[in-house]
Amino acid sequence: MIDADRDLAILRASFVARFEYLRAASATSSESRRPVELDRTSAGRVSRMDAMQVQAMGPGMALAMERRRHDEARRIEAAIGRIDDGEYGYCIACGEEISPKRLAAGPTIATCISCAA
Ligand SMILES: [Zn+2]
Repeated sequence: MIDADRDLAILRASFVARFEYLRAASATSSESRRPVELDRTSAGRVSRMDAMQVQAMGPGMALAMERRRHDEARRIEAAIGRIDDGEYGYCIACGEEISPKRLAAGPTIATCISCAA
């Protein structure tokens, strides 16, 4: 299962990167009333774009975006935890393997199709 382990490591790294992006974006949007500052890191570039979007949208939309980011960050955090526990890819409700197609469509999905229904 060497390939599967490597795939999982790659997936974990992409989860971590996405999680850090979401955190950076959240930190930026909570300060979105401030002038946009220059930042040389790539996360800074992305979150600066995000801050400009927030300024254009207004507070209601910004709050909805923030809530979505928060939910996604929580799902990603849980998926990283399942990878670390060796439980990733198995349904948290019944323990059955989640179909690869379902996981490909939603990598942070934690339940099999019958438990989700
Ligand atoms: Zn299940």
